[in-house]
Amino acid sequence: MPVTINNFVNVPASHRCSNLVGGAWLAPPNAVYLPVVSPYTGEKIGEVPVSTAADVDTVVQKAQAAFAGWRATPIKERTQILLKWRELMLANLDRMSHTAASECGKLVDEARAGILKGLEVTEFAASLQNMATGGVLEVSRGVQCEMRHEPLGVVAGITPFNFPAMVPMWMYPVALVLGNCFVLKPSEKVPLTSQIIGELIVKAGFPVGVFSIVNGDRKTVEALTQHPFVQAVGFVGSTPVAKSVYQNATQAGKRALTLGGAKNAIILLPDADPDVAVRGILDSFTGCGGQRCMAASLVYAVGPVDATIEKIVAAAKKIELGNMMGAIIDKVAMKRISDAIDQAAKDGAKILVDGRKFPAPKGYEGGNWLGPTIIDGAKPEMACTKDEIFGPVLTIMRVGSLPQAMTLEHANPFGNATSVFTTQGAAARYVTDNASAGMLGVNIGVPVPREPFSFGGTKQSKFGSGDITGVSAVDFWTWRKKITTKWSLAKDNNWMS
Ligand code: NAD
Repeated sequence: MPVTINNFVNVPASHRCSNLVGGAWLAPPNAVYLPVVSPYTGEKIGEVPVSTAADVDTVVQKAQAAFAGWRATPIKERTQILLKWRELMLANLDRMSHTAASECGKLVDEARAGILKGLEVTEFAASLQNMATGGVLEVSRGVQCEMRHEPLGVVAGITPFNFPAMVPMWMYPVALVLGNCFVLKPSEKVPLTSQIIGELIVKAGFPVGVFSIVNGDRKTVEALTQHPFVQAVGFVGSTPVAKSVYQNATQAGKRALTLGGAKNAIILLPDADPDVAVRGILDSFTGCGGQRCMAASLVYAVGPVDATIEKIVAAAKKIELGNMMGAIIDKVAMKRISDAIDQAAKDGAKILVDGRKFPAPKGYEGGNWLGPTIIDGAKPEMACTKDEIFGPVLTIMRVGSLPQAMTLEHANPFGNATSVFTTQGAAARYVTDNASAGMLGVNIGVPVPREPFSFGGTKQSKFGSGDITGVSAVDFWTWRKKITTKWSLAKDNNWMS
């Protein structure tokens, strides 16, 4: 029987994932299967195969075989298929939101918002057919130089658990429209949503082998990033893995762009509008249970901001798990977050709100429930100010001035996002001029750029150049072909003619 909570509907317990290979679903032979467990209930809701190097080879060979035909398909035709798929995604939005929520633990509304945000990248990808992304110039009498963006071939995307639909969509719509064949390796914790995406890809009429799914874990990633036919690797996940995938892929001669973890800061100034600041900070650190790479994790509280902090504390205490906040991905993450809270207390910080004391929703006691946690009085040397906790935990550091806050921002090893809450234009301008993170916000708790602006951080939050979406993605998924041509009847040739 399906269970419901905040409209959450569990997926059938029996779902066994397959790989999408050459347009058909294939159970990899001899694969070990891992359980897929719902964070809501702690129950198994499916199984995912761990594909071996041989299984990866089967997938990549089929993708490679599809490349010549897909590359030769005009971009306008490729785009029409993508748009058909987008319609199918919208028609299946409910089913997909429930599946994503059930496997990654977020609220159904959050899952729906993530899918719609991902589809914005599809809209950007569809617009590329009408943009002159290359160029042509008369460089001498009768001589033209032209630059074209050419697809790379088979490219791979490796994605994390926290946005089962959106993060993969940062990559494949643009890569596919530009003529590449894409192989997705979804997180083994949340493989079910990708099964629906694959089903809709087949339905939309993408030629066989143009989009593939290979399920698995670390070993599957290693085989994929080493495969001789794979030309480029896009990765999103934690920093240690992002770093090692970047190193392995580039050493094997692949192009790589790997996005890592984060420790995003909010600079709270005394002149901030309290309602805007409270809403923005609360939503940022509790949304998706704090399991998003753009979530606020630190507050640099500048000067007398106690009244605003008290309001954040009061609002956090009212959060109802299951209805206002979803669940944590798994028991390992629950322990990591709980240990981080204990360590902060041991280090001398004050726990203003302890998420471990919040009750689980009735009937869901087997799930991974943790309420919002607020730590105050943290110091730069404490683990809670340095490590990514990746849960609904907000750490407050008291700071004397805005320049001091900026010094801390620069010392932060991560660089995804920094936001400031203020009503002073000059203070906002100081932050946007001087901050080191890649994505900055003014009075916005989650400063994710919308298309066509690109998504990407700095420092330990990203390895490789460029960003994963926007115009930057066009460069990442293509190489530049330059053609110099002379078609002229004129006889007054110069040195270039
Ligand atoms: P993760 O690094 O554990 O896993 C990400 C992917 O890498 C998965 O597909 C997994 O199968 C694979 N993987 C895991 N270990 C590997 C290894 N040793 N070698 C090769 N591949 C391996 O990340 P996660 O726990 O799924 O996701 C949460 C993390 O992702 C957080 O750190 C979060 O900040 C980060 N994240 C970053 C962004 C961003 O845009 N920068 C976006 C979303 C999530």
